[in-house]
Amino acid sequence: MSNLLERLRRRGWRMTAQRRVVAEVLDGEHIHLTADEVLARATERLPEISRATVYNTLGELASLGEVIEVSSVGRAKRYDPNAHRAHQHLVCAGCGTVRDVHPEGDPMVGLPDTERFGFTVTGVEITYRGLCPVCGAAAPEEGPESD
Ligand SMILES: [Zn+2]
Ligand SMILES: [Zn+2]
Repeated sequence: MSNLLERLRRRGWRMTAQRRVVAEVLDGEHIHLTADEVLARATERLPEISRATVYNTLGELASLGEVIEVSSVGRAKRYDPNAHRAHQHLVCAGCGTVRDVHPEGDPMVGLPDTERFGFTVTGVEITYRGLCPVCGAAAPEEGPESD
């Protein structure tokens, strides 16, 4: 579990009804929601919640370091409560399901100096892509039949 609510309670985060709903929507494992998805789920629980409050709360949680902003080129930013354990992402090309994964070794080491172009490299984000078991089962078989 990400224990987001527990972490926020411990650090004395000011928890109004609206802010709590945003944190509840984000709490859990393998959660990677866009701001609009957070807004939609928060609205189901608290119809009067405002878009501005949702967006401001997401920004605040990110600046506190309790939620990571995951950006992928050309796609909407996603909010990830798994902020305290380094991880990478495994994404289904069919349904968009995202899993937190922990590859072996340190991916920072994999980029040699000659490929760093003089940059001071401070982080790495790896996205593994494929089909989840559900989408894989629905996809047509590849390759020749074995009969
Ligand atoms: Zn899928
Ligand atoms: Zn994640």
